[in-house]
Order: sequence, then C-alpha cells, then structure tokens
Amino acid sequence: MVAIAAVLALAAPSSAQQVASAASPEPVVVSNLPAPAALSPLLNTDTLAEPNRAPTAFRSRSDRQFLTAAQLLTAAPAPATPAAAEEEPPAAPPPAPPAVIPLPAPPPAPPTHVLPAQGRYTSCFCERWGEWHGGMDLAHASGTPEVAAAAGTVIVAGPAGGFGQWVQVQHDDGTVTVYGHMDTIEVVVGQRVVAGELIATMGAQGNSTGPHLHFEVWPAGDRAQRVDPATWLSAHGVSLPEYTP
Ligand SMILES: [Zn+2]
Repeated sequence: MVAIAAVLALAAPSSAQQVASAASPEPVVVSNLPAPAALSPLLNTDTLAEPNRAPTAFRSRSDRQFLTAAQLLTAAPAPATPAAAEEEPPAAPPPAPPAVIPLPAPPPAPPTHVLPAQGRYTSCFCERWGEWHGGMDLAHASGTPEVAAAAGTVIVAGPAGGFGQWVQVQHDDGTVTVYGHMDTIEVVVGQRVVAGELIATMGAQGNSTGPHLHFEVWPAGDRAQRVDPATWLSAHGVSLPEYTP
C-alpha cells in the first residue's frame, strides 16, 4: 500500500503543484514551468487548435521522408483486383509491317468491240457499181468464223433476200449490227452473246461474188439510218485491216 501511495503522489499535476503548508492555510503555488499562456509561442498553435490535422509544413528532407513512410504504413493498401490489373496491360511491341507481296497484274479487260471477221476489207460504205453499198465487206475463205462485234441479243437469225442468210444483234445502246451472206448460222433468236462470240461462218449465199461478210451498223435499229461500219468500229477502238477494193 505504501508503494501505491507514492506512485499516486508522483502522478499529481506536474505543471503546478499545490502544497498544503501547516504554517500557511492558503495554498502556495509552486511551479518551475512558465504559465500555459507563456507556452503557446513555443508550440504549433495550429496543431493545438486542430489536433487531428496532418502536418503540412516539413522542416527538413528527413522529416519529409519519415512522414511519407508513416503515411504509407497507415494508408490502406489498394485492392489488387483483376480489373485494376487490366487497366494498364503491358505495352505490346508494335506489329511488324506486313510483307509487301506484289500482286499479279489483273488480266486486261476484254474489248467491248471487235472486228466481226478476219479478212480483206474489199468494199466500203460507199457507192459501188452505180448503187449505194450500205456496209463493209470482209472477204476470206468460206467457213471463216464470224463473231458478234459487241455484246448483245440476237434478234434475227435466218434466211434473207439479197443476203441469203443474215443475223442481227441488238446491243445494249439500241444499235443493231447486221451480218450477211454466211454459210452457217451458229446462234438462235433471243440468244445473248458477248463481243467476239461466234455467231456464224463465212459464206457466199445471196447476191455475192465470193465468200465474205457483209457487215452493217444501224445505230437506231433502223436500216434507213445506217452508218459507216468502219467509222463505228474505229470509234470503239477496233483496228481495221487495210482497205483493198
Ligand atoms: Zn457487202
């Protein structure tokens, strides 16, 4: 019990100790420390006024490091969630540029217009022997292939008066090309043909002195408005054989 009483006596207020004196009934204040008002200039008044406020002013680099470590220790660690890990994936190396592989040149587009038969250009779109010749003649051996000068639809294929036999092909722009004197016909009415497709074989039927193709062009589909087939073919990029009447 004596030891506990001594501890309690030591735990008494230290800034000012009131000691009761037998000689003086009035309490005597004994203090070695300045009054609390004198303490304030030596203390951080901000800290005293706001004890929970974190210190903002650092006096030295070592203080800053210490406080930073303390903050790290007290800070709650951020949860390592998979979503957080996906936010910043490791930077992937840039993809290698694709190897340049030269592509083969595309095949040239087929011509839209072709010469309807190979042969000598023997008669022009002109007056001949006292009468108008409304087409061009291409003369070659009997059986020489005759082809559509352009894509279109066969609208006539069969016997004809002066032509013996003829074929008419109507093209997409309304122009009709006419082929005469053939030996055989290789298409039927309504058949769709492309430029260069076989439509007949060369012959000498009708009013003809020898096997040849008589070729006409009717831009409006009307025989009365025939045009020079040589000019029409040339305008569509077709090279013509030399004119040798
Ligand atoms: Zn002719």
